[in-house]
Amino acid sequence: MAMREYYKVTELEKNVFRLYSDEGVHSDLFVGQDKALLLDTGYGFGDLHAAVKGITGNSKSLMIVNSHAHIDHASGNFQFDEGIFLHPKDWELYERITSAEKRRYNVEQGRRTPKFQDGEEGVHNILPQDFDEERYIYGRNDRLIPVKEGDTFDLGGINLTVVETPGHTKGSISLIYEQKKWLFAGDAMNMFMLLFEEESTNLSEYIHTLKKAEALRLEKLVISHYSKILDMSVLDYFLDCALNLDYDQGIPFEASIGRGYNARICAPGKKPDCFYTTNPEKPLIVICKEKIDI
Ligand SMILES: [Zn+2]
Repeated sequence: MAMREYYKVTELEKNVFRLYSDEGVHSDLFVGQDKALLLDTGYGFGDLHAAVKGITGNSKSLMIVNSHAHIDHASGNFQFDEGIFLHPKDWELYERITSAEKRRYNVEQGRRTPKFQDGEEGVHNILPQDFDEERYIYGRNDRLIPVKEGDTFDLGGINLTVVETPGHTKGSISLIYEQKKWLFAGDAMNMFMLLFEEESTNLSEYIHTLKKAEALRLEKLVISHYSKILDMSVLDYFLDCALNLDYDQGIPFEASIGRGYNARICAPGKKPDCFYTTNPEKPLIVICKEKIDI
């Protein structure tokens, strides 16, 4: 497979592109008249830089924002010379996920990525044929730039505003696409919400984030691990799940990232009928008891 084909590009809306690959996470590219802005860089196994420049052209200046510092959103930063806008509450997490040891682990995961996204059993190797392992493992971009609530990006015809949306991580942010009234939320709101790791907040803060997002009265929601544009009304389901989750009836979360956490997959008011969901109307929250403070 040629490197440039690693990322599949779709145009969500005029001048708003989604880049997707077997990595299983979307990066969103906004191309204004003056500047472009890339929200998240995935694992960065493929040549994301070339894919982005293929859309924007070489001359347009680019800004890079990370919705949060998880490995599947920030590991491709090393391909870019630009600074990285990231909320300071995720800087310590960023330091952890960018170590050579962690990046070596990413590569191992890339070689045996579960096929469950395609509804199949087993694992497959999602690294490109010409993958440069050493360059990846030792690749870094430490030029972090702080962002905070209310910061704005004016790309020329596209204006984006930062909203702090903690929960999934303490420094999670979302971007409002002002012209369309859309919210690009990364993992901050999700039908399969991971809220058990040390970088996650307590449940009450996630609930506060969901209520804050509802109060913005926006039109649509775009999240990183789901390809379709969602109606904002899905937040009612997410909120119901958060307010009424039943930890006692939860199912132990046995994925490798959950090791040592005693996390459970929880549904509102009952035992979950599945281990994973992509249905926005049937959300699940993976959480450990210590995070439940309501
Ligand atoms: Zn995440």
